[in-house]
Amino acid sequence: MTKVYSGGVTALGGVSLDIAAGELVAIVGPSGSGKSTMLNVLGTLDRPTSGTVHVDGYDVGALPDARLSALRASRIGFVFQHFHLAAGTAALDNVADGLLYSGHRPAERRRRAARALERVGLGHRMEHEPHELSGGEKQRVAIARAVAGEPPLLLADEPTGALDSVSGAGVMELLRELNAGGTTVVIITHDREIAAALPRQVRMRDGLTVDDSARPAAVVEVG
Ligand code: ADP
Ligand code: MG
Repeated sequence: MTKVYSGGVTALGGVSLDIAAGELVAIVGPSGSGKSTMLNVLGTLDRPTSGTVHVDGYDVGALPDARLSALRASRIGFVFQHFHLAAGTAALDNVADGLLYSGHRPAERRRRAARALERVGLGHRMEHEPHELSGGEKQRVAIARAVAGEPPLLLADEPTGALDSVSGAGVMELLRELNAGGTTVVIITHDREIAAALPRQVRMRDGLTVDDSARPAAVVEVG
């Protein structure tokens, strides 16, 4: 799969990556190496220039836009470095709004949002607006929004990048818990310690995957 942006920048130069259900994967690499592009293409937010992306067996490129949006809404949750919460909007509504396209009625959306906030330890912050929350709490709200629809796949782009180390550790613990509960989790991180603590690390450089701990390079090959 490749991704060339309209200006001619080759962000991904021929990568292939398989992630199995239930995995917890770190994507690491220097700034500009293509990590976010990879996550956006994996998450169907962006289309590859060549090649294919399969999510849950569906060939994403072959789906009409409406089906693709439905697939994304039901199967993929996103978390970003800077939270992407709506200002002036209570945590409960921020999370419930993430369920707008779920087909549930407003009361049910709020019920599910409340449950998701409880799950991330913010049952006592439902009516707080983003500016009344700490960075770590904001990221928990964002995670609650991402998982309220119970997607099987959670993609996080530097989720601890804007947090102090204590809040970051709490967010990582939460992501681990979600993984332990069955969610497949892919985390882009700059933090070597965080990456090293995860079961699989995919290293990127210059738009390529240069190392994948799930596929160790052969030290000796006999053929
Ligand atoms: P990373 O997340 O590893 O920092 P990115 O995937 O954001 O890397 O970027 C990879 C390359 O693609 C960089 O050279 C970046 O400048 C370029 N790039 C990213 N997004 C766009 C875009 N929307 N349009 C053009 N070039 C982009
Ligand atoms: Mg990035």
